[in-house]
Amino acid sequence: MSNVLLQVKNLKKYYPIRAGLTRKIVGNVKAVDGVDLTIYRGETFGLVGESGCGKSTTGRSILRLIAPTDGEIFFDGRDIASLSAREMRHVYRDMQLIFQDPYASLNPRKTVEKLIAEPMLVHNLYTPAERTKRVHELLEVVGLSSYHGSRYPHEFSGGQRQRIGIARALALHPKLIIADEPVSALDVSIQSQVLNLLRQLQRDFDLTYLFIAHDLSVVKHISDRIGVMYLGRIVELSDKKNLYEKPMHPYTQALLSAVPVANPKAKPERILLEGDVPSPANPPQGCAFHPRCSACMDICKTVRPELRDVGDGHFVACHLYNN
Ligand code: SF4
Repeated sequence: MSNVLLQVKNLKKYYPIRAGLTRKIVGNVKAVDGVDLTIYRGETFGLVGESGCGKSTTGRSILRLIAPTDGEIFFDGRDIASLSAREMRHVYRDMQLIFQDPYASLNPRKTVEKLIAEPMLVHNLYTPAERTKRVHELLEVVGLSSYHGSRYPHEFSGGQRQRIGIARALALHPKLIIADEPVSALDVSIQSQVLNLLRQLQRDFDLTYLFIAHDLSVVKHISDRIGVMYLGRIVELSDKKNLYEKPMHPYTQALLSAVPVANPKAKPERILLEGDVPSPANPPQGCAFHPRCSACMDICKTVRPELRDVGDGHFVACHLYNN
């Protein structure tokens, strides 16, 4: 069995821009523009970037919740990029999503027991009695109690609702969980409880995570490797230690300078990012980060840097490291 669980090659998701009476396509919003990544069994891969950088679209394209424009997606040795919706149903047993806002993803009219049992019902798994037993097990596993099963989502706090979302995602014994900003909507104190739970579940159930976040401080403790996205592309990818200790891309350096640390005196000066992320409908020429980069050179304005291996599994897309 290969150690690689998920491999994504040149993934693209473009949204056409139409104009005029004939609704002619006049351009594309390049939400994801050539993402390559490999996720190994049992690891947590953190995917980070500001809002609008394409990280959530990447996660949803991998799950085929939105149809990719181009690219290859190999999951557990199988090419899933061109599977029909019907064929994808089988893949969803092994690949699940945890949402940022569990309240929006949980039907308010269904009890928690029904919500957690639903994926098993859809896949026609187990007898009704076995499903109930499994729901109660899952509630315990995520730190709730079996009596919570008869309640409705609105009766729970944000953290508890996220636990329900996690129990639902675990119902089919998945191999990969794509967690799309799973703690962003929670209070900081609750965030660490949910992150600890995810780590515990990973150990107990051999899970692999693609963990999407907009903040490098959130992914720090849970990730083994991290990819930093900017305007639809990965600009730096490395194991956690290298990324936090030796960030190379000016964008990663700026994001890291904003992460709070225990000893502020040991922290490098905050690098303020000027301006907003440019529109993916009209990305800057050359390096997409160049209008905001304090190290910008002439070449950066015309030539797009490729993501290159600079050693030790550390990849960076920046002309500062051309040699
Ligand atoms: Fe900055 Fe140039 Fe590197 Fe882009 S390629 S991050 S503009 S130095």
